[in-house]
Amino acid sequence: MATVKAQPIRPAKMERIILLCVLSTCLSAVHTQNFLFSSKRGPIGYKDRDEQRDGTVMDEIIKTNEFQAARMLDGTTSLREGDIAVTSGRRSKACFARSCLWSKSVDGHVYIAYQFSPEYSEMETSLIKKGMENIEKGTCVRFVPWTHQQDYIDIQPKSGCWSYLGSRGGRQTLSLQNPDCLQVGVIAHEFMHALGFVHEQSRFDRDNYITIMWPNIWRDRLRNFEKFRTDSLGLPYDYSSIMHFGMYAYSQDGEPTIIPKSTKAIKLGQTSTLSHIDRMKINRLYNCGEDDDY
Ligand SMILES: [Zn+2]
Repeated sequence: MATVKAQPIRPAKMERIILLCVLSTCLSAVHTQNFLFSSKRGPIGYKDRDEQRDGTVMDEIIKTNEFQAARMLDGTTSLREGDIAVTSGRRSKACFARSCLWSKSVDGHVYIAYQFSPEYSEMETSLIKKGMENIEKGTCVRFVPWTHQQDYIDIQPKSGCWSYLGSRGGRQTLSLQNPDCLQVGVIAHEFMHALGFVHEQSRFDRDNYITIMWPNIWRDRLRNFEKFRTDSLGLPYDYSSIMHFGMYAYSQDGEPTIIPKSTKAIKLGQTSTLSHIDRMKINRLYNCGEDDDY
C-alpha cells in the first residue's frame, strides 16, 4: 500500500511560505483600507453587485440612497422604506384616510404647484418635467409652476432621491439628487409618494401575492419591508407598479428578497413608467373617474 510520508519543510520552502503570508496580509490590508476609505457609503455586508439588481426604479433609488446619500436628511428627518421622508415628532398624517391629499379644483383636476431649485440646469428641469408628465398622462393630476399657492413642492437636488408622503401643507421638499435621481421613472416614483402612495409591497394583503425572504434581507433594512394598513382602492395587487420593490431589493447576499407567489413568470417593478394600475390608483384616490381622456 502506498503511503505519503510527511516531508520536513526545508528552509527555502519556509521562506517562500513566509513571503506568501506577508503578501496576503498586505493585500488584505489594502482591501480593508479601500473598504474603510471608500468614497461610497454603504451598508457593511451589502453586496453592491450589478447582477443582483434587476434594473427597477427602486433599485436605482436604493443605489443612490444607500451608497451615496446621508443617513439622516437633517437632525429630525430620516427615510422610511428607503425613500419616504419622515420627520420625528411630527405625526404623519394617515394618507389612506384621504387626509393628506392635494386639493381638487372645481374643474376636476388636481393642480399641484412646484418650484425648481435654481441649482438645476435647463436640461435637468426639462428632464424632471418629463417625470411629472409621466404622472399626468391618463390621470387628473396637473403640475403647475408655483406662483402664490399655499401648498407646493419644492424640488431640490439634496442628498438622495426622496419625498414626503402626501401633501403636508405649506412648502414641502422633494429631493432629486443630481444626476443620480434624474431619471424619468425615479422622478415619477417620488411624485407618487408626494401624491400619497407607499410602496406596493407594503399593502396589507401583500402576503397573498408575494413571499418576503426575510433571511436574505440586509439586517439593518428589515423595517423597509413592513406592511401598512393601506387602502387598495379596490384595485388588484400590481406586481408591475412603479412603486414595487425589485426582486433583489436590499439583498445582503445576492439572493432574492421578494418572490411572487404567482405561477406565471413575473417581473417586479418598473424601469421608467407608471403601470396602467398606477394611473387608475391616482384617479381613484383623487375621485377623478377613470377616463383616459385626461
Ligand atoms: Zn419609494
